[in-house]
Amino acid sequence: MLKQNELEKISHLIVKYNEPLSHYTYTKVGGPADILAFPETTEALTELSVLAQATNTPVTVLGNASNLIVRDGGIRGLVILLEKLDQVNVAGYTIEAQAGAKLKAVTQIAQEHALTGFEFACGIPGSIGGAVFMNAGAYGGEISQVLVSCKVMNESGELFVLTADEMRFGYRHSVIRDENLVVISAKFELTPGDPEQIQNEMNRLNFLRESKQPLEYPSCGSVFKRPEGHFAGQLIQEAQLQGTRIGGVEVSKKHAGFMVNVDHGTATDYEALIAHVIQRVEENAGLTLEPEVRIIGEK
Ligand SMILES: Cc1cc2nc3c(=O)[nH]c(=O)nc-3n(C[C@H](O)[C@H](O)[C@H](O)COP(=O)(O)OP(=O)(O)OC[C@H]3O[C@@H](n4cnc5c(N)ncnc54)[C@H](O)[C@@H]3O)c2cc1C
Repeated sequence: MLKQNELEKISHLIVKYNEPLSHYTYTKVGGPADILAFPETTEALTELSVLAQATNTPVTVLGNASNLIVRDGGIRGLVILLEKLDQVNVAGYTIEAQAGAKLKAVTQIAQEHALTGFEFACGIPGSIGGAVFMNAGAYGGEISQVLVSCKVMNESGELFVLTADEMRFGYRHSVIRDENLVVISAKFELTPGDPEQIQNEMNRLNFLRESKQPLEYPSCGSVFKRPEGHFAGQLIQEAQLQGTRIGGVEVSKKHAGFMVNVDHGTATDYEALIAHVIQRVEENAGLTLEPEVRIIGEK
């Protein structure tokens, strides 16, 4: 296991110990990370990963923690939050963004540079790394449509570049998950557009989102994947589950696909409600919902 004196030798690294992850997750649930580290440079990240591997310390990498339920027992070993790796560079029609850059910031930069194609992501509250990991998408757009290459790190701390063809993108899926890689940065190819039209489109999408999603409460977005030929929200609505509450977590009355933390809910509440919804939808429609949200950590 990593030792404090070894971590102190790495420059450009902020470290916290026994830090509650509920302070960082969108759901506002999650127990403590033994070690929570914030690398400020790619070098600090690679040094940290090499050290973790040498000391057999388990590593969990998080972006903006908006697609996660961290269990109440927290995460053993090292948790790396990439929010400080957030540089964004624009060259011609290409945007290169570090993994910790927020999608919202990157889409705004694209608009300022009169580049179109990234508007779909303007309301997704994730980071570039998390979005690439799960091929995030909304309103007909998807990361796979704009990504040209991705710089990644393997478990040994080696850096290399994957082209779009090597990313094995699928519905909410990429090679990053299969191969346990860490996204360091991603390059996107956009097309020239009119900044006013781009802004209008982002405003339209954000308005749609605000009118349909319970953004006033902590949540993890859509809890379940879209089953082929169906919508998870509709199946949940048809099973009359909206408003069903376990502990402090409720199936949203505004959008049945969301589960909101309305009153000091816990990860245990989330897991129990997810299991309940899966069972009731199975009984009602004969279909098994599969969670899109990742559930990690100790009970
Ligand atoms: C209100 C709300 C609305 C949402 N709307 C949408 C939507 O419209 N479309 C959509 O697709 N999603 C949506 N989401 C879900 C979520 O925002 C996206 O999936 C987002 O891409 C997750 O990014 P993140 O940085 O928060 O990832 P995290 O939640 O931090 O992590 C998710 C997974 O990605 C991995 N990961 C994160 N960063 C890296 C990295 N650099 N390298 C390797 N692995 C990494 C983590 O280990 C974890 O397994 C929504 C969520 C909320 C709360």
